[in-house]
Amino acid sequence: MTVTLNFHGAAGTVTGSCYRVVHERGQFLVDCGMFQGNKTVRDLNLKPFPFDARAIDYLLLTHAHIDHCGLIPKLTRNGFRKPLLMTAPTSGLLEYLLLDSAGIQESEADRETTKRERKGDLPAEPLYEIADAQEALKLRQPVEYGAWVEPGPGVRARWWNAGHILGSASIEVEVADGDKPVRLLFSGDIGPNEKVFYNNPEAPSDFDYILCESTYGGRERTDYSLEERRAALKAEVNEALARGGNLVIPAFAVERSQELLHDIGTLIRDGEIKPQLVFLDSPLASKVTAVYQKYASMFEDTELSANELFNDPRFRIVESVEESKAINSIRGGAIIISASGMADAGRIKHHLRNNLIRPEATVLFVGYQAPGTLGQIILSGARDVRIHGFEVPVRARIRSMGNYSAHADHSELMAWIKARLPAHGAVFLTHGEEEERHALRDAVIKLGLGGDQVILPLLDDAFQLRASGVAGVVKPAVPRIDLGQVTSDWHNAYAQLVLELSHRLQTAPTDTDRLALITRLKGELGGEALVVPPVVTQPGAVHMEPGGE
Ligand SMILES: [Zn+2]
Repeated sequence: MTVTLNFHGAAGTVTGSCYRVVHERGQFLVDCGMFQGNKTVRDLNLKPFPFDARAIDYLLLTHAHIDHCGLIPKLTRNGFRKPLLMTAPTSGLLEYLLLDSAGIQESEADRETTKRERKGDLPAEPLYEIADAQEALKLRQPVEYGAWVEPGPGVRARWWNAGHILGSASIEVEVADGDKPVRLLFSGDIGPNEKVFYNNPEAPSDFDYILCESTYGGRERTDYSLEERRAALKAEVNEALARGGNLVIPAFAVERSQELLHDIGTLIRDGEIKPQLVFLDSPLASKVTAVYQKYASMFEDTELSANELFNDPRFRIVESVEESKAINSIRGGAIIISASGMADAGRIKHHLRNNLIRPEATVLFVGYQAPGTLGQIILSGARDVRIHGFEVPVRARIRSMGNYSAHADHSELMAWIKARLPAHGAVFLTHGEEEERHALRDAVIKLGLGGDQVILPLLDDAFQLRASGVAGVVKPAVPRIDLGQVTSDWHNAYAQLVLELSHRLQTAPTDTDRLALITRLKGELGGEALVVPPVVTQPGAVHMEPGGE
């Protein structure tokens, strides 16, 4: 008998975490996340699952980030009606995150349908709808940290604090295989040691297979202790406010927004910063903040008491559209935190449209920006960006802080892995870009594991697991995407070329120069003048449509 482990996401891509374990008595999933990033990667969301959703017996969820749970409503849309097991705080967060994601999917589809109707095409179908998310929410079953549960025959599982976001966990799983179970550990996303709200990540040791994320493989952070982080934030806030403009911070609705409110609240209390108003402008972030308040008694390492948390009189936690629009008229002195964190969706796009053109404004990035997202394009120094179909010149000061992270850095990942060993079969490294995965792989091999015991799986690879080791990999017959397009896809390259060309034409000194530039480019295309339809830029190619966090 064998147990087979399939990597259906976060393997060759950072996002889309999804593992499928097939064993003697059934099959189950660990996570079912959305793919985020450039268009090639996002197209994976629209493709059929590489398995039958109705054949899955249950799903074990590590945490509520959308790249780990965002395709669960697509499972229910495909007929899945089985238990979803997760910690109680994750279940609390999911209630808002899945409905929010479904709302985004519906409005994206509506927008696409309007476009298509003009051309006389058929309406677009959403990835999933609110009804699918509601169906998924009915399937939630809470579990306690550290307690074994038996989700189905031949399998038992335990959740361990991963110190990453509220409710996050690594999941220990035992799958019966003859007389000896195969022991697996799914890391989920692992948090850093210095993190407000939580204790250090934990889990037992001695496994057959360890699956570990590698987001920060090969990368160390030196200045992110709780105090250093707050000091860096203080400096950024004071510098931004001294310029007379607003400070706009794109932040994930979950965790980062609450961390920022905690740190800003602490700095205000201690008289270190004096913003006039602090907006958290995101309907989702405001609901999520309420879930944090509910579980505040679980928190560690907080400066503020549960009563003080998120309660400063200068805080405005904004839900209504009118209140959000009213922020547009504020030209200075305000801190505006808004989602999404990569500026690809949500109200942050309005605040960026309003503030990027103001030289006195500051935009501060405090989180990871995936390749191809609007956040990454701004951060890479673009002079113009396209938001809601408009070209917006970037005049604001662009800053970023690497001090905030919900992820363990290289040394912390290594310490976590070391404390989980031995891994009799193999260590699989997932959920990282290639450079990071390779850096972590090299370091893990130095711990004494054989090179063939540290595996970097690719999308849809399947491994036969035995308590004693991997018995070969099965590659997918037809790859779902060209993995070469993950880091640089042609849609983004094209959109950037169009922006660059438009900029060059606008800034050319004379019409003769403009014509000369066009003639040179046409020469590059070669040959006879082609009869081509007019060039239409693709607004969807520069920003990320679905998803969010
Ligand atoms: Zn995460």
